[in-house]
Amino acid sequence: MNWDEFGDWGRRISDWAQDYHLTVGDRPVRAQTRPGDILNALPVTPPDSPEDMETVFRDFENIVMPGITHWQHPRFFAYFNANAAAPSVLAEFLVSAIAPQCMLWQTSPAATEMETRMMDWLRQSLGLPAGFEGVIQDSASSATLAAVLTMRERALNWTGNISGLAGNPQLRVYCSAEVHTSVDRAIWISGIGQDNLVRVPISGDWRGMDPDALDAAIRADKAAGLTPAGVILCVGGTGTGATDPVDACLQIAEAHGLYTHVDAAWAGSAMICPEFRHYWPGIERADSIVFNPHKWLGVQFDCSAHFLRNPDDLVRTLAIQPEYLKTHGHDGIINYSEWSVPLGRRFRALKIWFLLRTYGLEGLRERLRNHVRWSEALHDKLAATPDFEITSTRMWSLFTFRHAPRGVSELDDLNLRLLNAINDDGRIYLTQTRVDGNLVIRFQAGQFETTEADVMMAYDVITEIAEALA
Ligand SMILES: *Cc1c(COP(=O)(O)O)cnc(C)c1O
Repeated sequence: MNWDEFGDWGRRISDWAQDYHLTVGDRPVRAQTRPGDILNALPVTPPDSPEDMETVFRDFENIVMPGITHWQHPRFFAYFNANAAAPSVLAEFLVSAIAPQCMLWQTSPAATEMETRMMDWLRQSLGLPAGFEGVIQDSASSATLAAVLTMRERALNWTGNISGLAGNPQLRVYCSAEVHTSVDRAIWISGIGQDNLVRVPISGDWRGMDPDALDAAIRADKAAGLTPAGVILCVGGTGTGATDPVDACLQIAEAHGLYTHVDAAWAGSAMICPEFRHYWPGIERADSIVFNPHKWLGVQFDCSAHFLRNPDDLVRTLAIQPEYLKTHGHDGIINYSEWSVPLGRRFRALKIWFLLRTYGLEGLRERLRNHVRWSEALHDKLAATPDFEITSTRMWSLFTFRHAPRGVSELDDLNLRLLNAINDDGRIYLTQTRVDGNLVIRFQAGQFETTEADVMMAYDVITEIAEALA
């Protein structure tokens, strides 16, 4: 296939995509395939001679689509949504056609300068003060890795990259047990080591870090001759939406001179609504904050917004300038590849621009507020239903629950069977987590096309299937 046929196929695929989005609610949410089904439908060897696009597209529909779990389904209540709002998909289509590389200013000035402007639009949207600058990372995991590397270098007086960790002081990083596993991986990759990731006990309804325990842990480490490097907080943890007391923890970190990173990958989007910002008072003290516009905000995956109070620390940690990457003579320009681990960078700012302009912040706020309101209604209805219990405080549009009929002792087993039966049914999709060791079911609403009726259908499906299992 060549570019002369591209227009016809482009129109056909865009019609297909529109139809897919308008009717995806009729499909089972989670793929109903068995392991190996798709693998076995794909030839073992690659084709020697060209096949026509018609055949390839037919196989896409027949082989691929049955094995897709529909993340854009209005009743996808599992994990966190990864919304692809229509304008952001169009922007991605354009970007994949132009296919620019955005590692240096000069390798696509428009991409760099739009990234600067879009990160500042997002900063204002979240109510962060002027002075925070930002970069778009491919994922929150990468942003957290970059922040941990910065903590390490700062604590080692910028010697770790050059001389390695052997012979350097033993570093310590602090977080609660509710943070995402990307924190563990960043600690592994940075060479700090899992044993030096200190889990500070949690307390209270939000399941956040106890600030006094944080202070005590840092003091004890210092007394033992160890070197505290940084604190990682979560606002809206993945399991239950756990949220650390940001203000108190950041003040303690600051008092000890430690670098701080806040993971708000999911809940950061909610901060476009001023009434939700009471969950992160004092956020302006953080050194580094990440949130994923590719989750709740509607920007097609991947797009992770990483804010920095002082980008110099990050750039000092990650910038590398061999001769072939030097852009001589352009003072004051930004080369974003010096702000991230990968060198090659996609033009991700365009989809933010398309989305924010076509929805406006008010259009986005309305969606998020609805999700929170409908989730609260479902929460209240389940709480009032006999044999169901809410197992963690509702945080924005996320809460957990379990079926706990009187006299049943194996509740983990019962709830796992309930969850599997719900997902086999196909009308809704939910996932599980653990709260205080117990298996519980998570519910969160955040899909862009979800309606109140979709959320309320979850009530019918959950109670109907629970009754059938009893
Ligand atoms: C989703 C999520 C992550 C990981 O995000 P990626 O962009 O997939 O790396 C990290 N932290 C939290 C709290 C999340 O919800």
